[in-house]
Amino acid sequence: MMLQFVRPSKAAIARILGCRIADIRRFEAWKHVCFVVVAGRRPTLISFKAFQQDHLALRLQGAASVEVIESQDNHFGVFSHKTEKIYIVDTHVGSCTCPDWEFQLQKGLETPTCKHMIRVAQYIECAA
Ligand SMILES: [Zn+2]
Repeated sequence: MMLQFVRPSKAAIARILGCRIADIRRFEAWKHVCFVVVAGRRPTLISFKAFQQDHLALRLQGAASVEVIESQDNHFGVFSHKTEKIYIVDTHVGSCTCPDWEFQLQKGLETPTCKHMIRVAQYIECAA
């Protein structure tokens, strides 16, 4: 998967540093790293690569809670137990109809990756 810029967020910082969101005093995205100030700790830097890994790890985890229920050509219907909705992954275009995919696209990610797409990739790999 391509390395791409994943915008730093308080939630991601909390997961990466193992701290509470409420304790994050401030963060600034610099050129290749994010400068973070957490209450009771020394100021620190988090690499953008760490944010990308966190982004994928979170969706890889989420892929376990969704399942491929139908497929036709390049279209896969993926059922989410959480929202009880079916999202359509188009492997030809590389898109999904879920809000997460749309959100990432709007944030400017070149290749948005959601848990449904990861689940479909796993499904195809298993079927091959
Ligand atoms: Zn999706």
